[in-house]
Amino acid sequence: SDTVVSVRDLHVEFPTQVGLVRALNGVSFDVPRGKVLGIVGESGCGKSVTARAILRIIERPGRIVSGNIYFRPQRHLRDEPGGTRRSEKGQRKGGQEHSLDGGIVDLTAMDPNSPEIRAIRGQEISMIFQEPMTSLNPVYTVGNQIEEAILLHQTSDRDEAHRRAVEILRRVGMPNPERIARSYPHQLSGGMRQRAMIAMALSCTPTLLIADEPTTALDVTTEAQILELMRELQADFGMSIMFITHSMGVVAQLCDEVVVMYLGRVVERANVEDLFYNPKHPYTVSLLRSIPRLGVNRGQKLEVIKGSVPDPYSRVPGCPFHPRCPSAMPGLCDKVLPLETPVPGDTAHTVRCHLYPGSTPADAASSTAPN
Ligand code: SF4
Ligand code: MG
Repeated sequence: SDTVVSVRDLHVEFPTQVGLVRALNGVSFDVPRGKVLGIVGESGCGKSVTARAILRIIERPGRIVSGNIYFRPQRHLRDEPGGTRRSEKGQRKGGQEHSLDGGIVDLTAMDPNSPEIRAIRGQEISMIFQEPMTSLNPVYTVGNQIEEAILLHQTSDRDEAHRRAVEILRRVGMPNPERIARSYPHQLSGGMRQRAMIAMALSCTPTLLIADEPTTALDVTTEAQILELMRELQADFGMSIMFITHSMGVVAQLCDEVVVMYLGRVVERANVEDLFYNPKHPYTVSLLRSIPRLGVNRGQKLEVIKGSVPDPYSRVPGCPFHPRCPSAMPGLCDKVLPLETPVPGDTAHTVRCHLYPGSTPADAASSTAPN
């Protein structure tokens, strides 16, 4: 299959003292194999929750209410050199649905503490975060941490693990990998730490790398270098990347396909060219307008989207974007939730907006039509 993860109608909620937060309201999309999928939207739209749901690391009392997350491991684990331990982990008493032997697994069906999901987290899906210190341990050297990850899954030979760790550090663009390997995380600059975290995530040669705004805290030059590096590594390792960002500029530099999210829903999906040259959803259009253009906007105030994302506690009736939408149609957009519909002539491009007739449910269309 050319899809590594398929998220289907995923609902996630967080009970809080002031009410239930519906963080994801029926999210569906595919992560294409061997490509970079961008998940874009403002903070609070559910991007990070989606990533955490895939890895099954949503903190209690948050929970997946319904939906499926199908994952197809890339490797037949029994083919891996030294893969005996992996195959053992993959086997399961009765039933094949959790098998890691190359079939499809439903991650929502796994216990978040099960050996199966732990194996997937350690060997198949890696995640990197905005703040590298959340995954780097301050009391061990960078080299030591990468070696331990390699020793856990790939080889039991310490010298070999060290050699591979240094090679990965070289691969992520460290100028002096031997010296970096001997450094502690706090001795590195922000950009170097981010490279170290990427090296650690790559040490298990993941099928899928999930990156949650990994360049947001970096200066633009370092960000550009890291994005370039991710592109190279993606091509060299053939892995799939799910890249979470609030920046359409980053999407343009890095992604093949894009999912635009707003308030816990997918509002548009397209390949990157279609999204930039033929955006359909008014929210996507506003995100594209907010990209700073060097020279053009210099000295001018950036156009930003009017209003802010509504509080997730307040349930917005109709289209969630209607309070901020310049095209909102009163009587329809504030009452009826649009459905996701293919853009005519382009089945790979979908939109959820009443400006596109397929989005308006048939019963709603007749009841709100002018007489
Ligand atoms: Fe705007 Fe209506 Fe489309 Fe929502 S459905 S994005 S309010 S036009
Ligand atoms: Mg986030």
